[in-house]
Amino acid sequence: MKRSVKRDWALETLLVHGSEREEGRSSRGVPTVQPIYTSTTFLHPDSEALDRAFENSLSGNESETAFVYGRQGNPNTYALESVIAQAEGGVGAIAYSSGMAAIHAALLAAGLTTGSKILAAKDLYGSTISLLRQVFVPLGVEVVMHDLYGPEVADIIRAEEPDVVYVETLSNPLVKVIDLDAVSAVAKEIGAVSIVDSTFTTPYLVRPIEHGFDLVVHSATKYLGGHGDSTAGIVISAKRALLDQLRNFAIILGAKLSPYEAHLIKRGVQTLSLRMERHCSNALKVAQYLQDHKAVERVHYPGLEDHPQHTLAKTLMGAGRAGGLLSFELREQSRVAAFRFMDRLRLCLPATTLGDAWSLVSYPSISSHRNLPEAERRSMGITDGCIRLSVGIECVNDIIGDLEGALGGKG
Ligand SMILES: *Cc1c(COP(=O)(O)O)cnc(C)c1O
Repeated sequence: MKRSVKRDWALETLLVHGSEREEGRSSRGVPTVQPIYTSTTFLHPDSEALDRAFENSLSGNESETAFVYGRQGNPNTYALESVIAQAEGGVGAIAYSSGMAAIHAALLAAGLTTGSKILAAKDLYGSTISLLRQVFVPLGVEVVMHDLYGPEVADIIRAEEPDVVYVETLSNPLVKVIDLDAVSAVAKEIGAVSIVDSTFTTPYLVRPIEHGFDLVVHSATKYLGGHGDSTAGIVISAKRALLDQLRNFAIILGAKLSPYEAHLIKRGVQTLSLRMERHCSNALKVAQYLQDHKAVERVHYPGLEDHPQHTLAKTLMGAGRAGGLLSFELREQSRVAAFRFMDRLRLCLPATTLGDAWSLVSYPSISSHRNLPEAERRSMGITDGCIRLSVGIECVNDIIGDLEGALGGKG
């Protein structure tokens, strides 16, 4: 019996069943879970077949998927790419060895080269800013950054006339929401390639290709994997030509994801919907709790009604679906107070990542935004009392109990 993925399945079903199950003719049975293929090379029946396989492997011909050599592709990596491409509604995806490798690939595929110009949102993930400044600027790329979260975003893009526009669905750590439709519309109008880092939202919350974006990137290390045990990245393309570039660069640069990591991320993806649902409901309750606490000055979470982009968040992601990430400012705005708070936590882990099953806390000034000058950090609105929380999927009462202990009693 041939079992294949149905195009009309809901996202939840698609993520569980993944890509097409491998069909075997063996009377020994076919595994329900794809084995991990460690082979660096693949044999084909004869030289004619090998020639065809080379062609199909290099071009990514989907009607005749073939594997020849590990750096060009592997069944586990391919299975992950297929399920994420379908989940995002793209023509295809390429998985890389990390989120940063994926971002680098997306920027190259978008055509960023000497003499071209990129307009990026001001609040980008710290390492992405470093990538632009330390790798692309020395190559002769003009990098301009603006606050792209306001109503004047269209005017800014038109005035700058960049070749590439780069944004994140939600900013880090202040969780500002980008107006995806406004950005992609102007990018199209001026002929710029639009890229969005959708790590914080995942296809469960928003599918940027449906909002007109050309390339979507993820650090799969975060919510897609979800278990803190694998580093990976993926780029999904809305256009065939961009996908071909992504594949070509991945092969030349040797940036492809390993089969082990691909297996782990794909396993994580099966429970993505369940986890995201819980991340969102827990984060909203935690945000509401913190908002009323006397030791807390301000809470940044787009699910709260007083968040400046609450309406946009609801339009893009739906009611009660504002993600698992929030940040807040302690009333006592100091590094000492922030460290004291973090060191008192017993459940939430002080680790620099996000999107794991467990709750994580980080202090942006010493982690994600460590390499930025203090003045720049402040101009982004990241104060000395600012703490980021990646709300996990534990029982929310335990998370709130832990925060209460660290904040020094009930609000
Ligand atoms: C973590 C992260 C990255 C980088 O991903 P790695 O897997 O660590 O290379 C990029 N963008 C965002 C928004 C991230 O959170």
